[in-house]
Amino acid sequence: MAKKDYYEVLGVSRNASTEEIKKAYKDLVKKWHPDLHKDDKEQAEEKFKEIREAYEVLSDPQKRAQYDKFGYVGHPSGGTSQGWSGGGNPFGDSPFGGGLFDDLEDIFGTFFGQETRTHRGASRARQTKGEDIYTTVWIDVKDALYGTEKEVEYTRYETCEACHGTGAKNGTAFKTCPKCHGTGVITVQQRTLFGVMTTQTTCDMCGGTGKIITEKCPVCGGRGKVIKKRKIKVKIPAGVEDGGRMRVANGGHVGDNNGPYGDLFIIIKIKGMPSNLKREGTNVYSEVNISFVQAALGDTIEIDGIEGKELLDIPAGTQPGTLFRLKGKGFPTVNGRRRGDHVVKINVVIPKSLTSEQEELLRKYAEVSGEDIKKKKKSFFHR
Ligand SMILES: [Zn+2]
Ligand SMILES: [Zn+2]
Repeated sequence: MAKKDYYEVLGVSRNASTEEIKKAYKDLVKKWHPDLHKDDKEQAEEKFKEIREAYEVLSDPQKRAQYDKFGYVGHPSGGTSQGWSGGGNPFGDSPFGGGLFDDLEDIFGTFFGQETRTHRGASRARQTKGEDIYTTVWIDVKDALYGTEKEVEYTRYETCEACHGTGAKNGTAFKTCPKCHGTGVITVQQRTLFGVMTTQTTCDMCGGTGKIITEKCPVCGGRGKVIKKRKIKVKIPAGVEDGGRMRVANGGHVGDNNGPYGDLFIIIKIKGMPSNLKREGTNVYSEVNISFVQAALGDTIEIDGIEGKELLDIPAGTQPGTLFRLKGKGFPTVNGRRRGDHVVKINVVIPKSLTSEQEELLRKYAEVSGEDIKKKKKSFFHR
């Protein structure tokens, strides 16, 4: 398509001032706005696009200079290719952001705002997505280790089948809305700076459906949705964390006006975890007390793990604070086979009191080891 001369499009001379260009543009927009040309809309849209493109270039001193010199502008910004039929503000990142034409932008706001999104024939009551539902499911530690399947029962709003979500008896008891004549849209004339403008809004009588219910659906009372108990089976993966969330798409409430379902979120809580264990990701941590004799001589002890008792070998000469790792005795990664570890921290307990026999033996031990322990009777009983 051959490009028209931008100056011709706006009907201004080649040395027109910015003010003159702006004024010409405003006048043309008033004249060619597609909403004012219902009968030859396509032509008006085409014309309107042309005007915008010309204005975009000529209102920008840099682009205008380029155009004057080369007869075209490299990349006209503002998304002229996307047109304006998509609704919303068609000007995208056009030169209106500059503030100079704020007044114009306001006017376009009413033209292109939500109001005009509902055009003749395409009118629809606004559908909204249904609300999400949150529910808690308790599982055992074992289930968290190996995964499980749970039945979840809850209540939610579902589409009323008797009226197919319309709210009208049998889904057919409607009459055409007398206010909008079935279009779902009403036209409002507004007096503005530039004269009378026509804007369209959603019909308030029918909410945009174009229809009025003559007899309400007796099953749902006209709401189009009913409360229903729902049972679903959910696979809970191995390795799930306490407080972890699972999403069941479309498991929530149905939306208004038959809108899409929301989601169901299942919050997993784990019960039966031994209180001495702390979980961090796939690993579990615990502490265990041993005597200084066990630490010195070595021993095999029983500790509490996530799956019950575990045996832990304490080598002779174990120091306080030593960490032992029980490989693979933690939680698995979600849906993975590799399991984390159980890390055990060793606390060595020093006796707070000794019998005389024990003391005697320890003094003997010191003597054998060549330690010179001063006699300080009763020092053990101070606390
Ligand atoms: Zn209506
Ligand atoms: Zn119903």
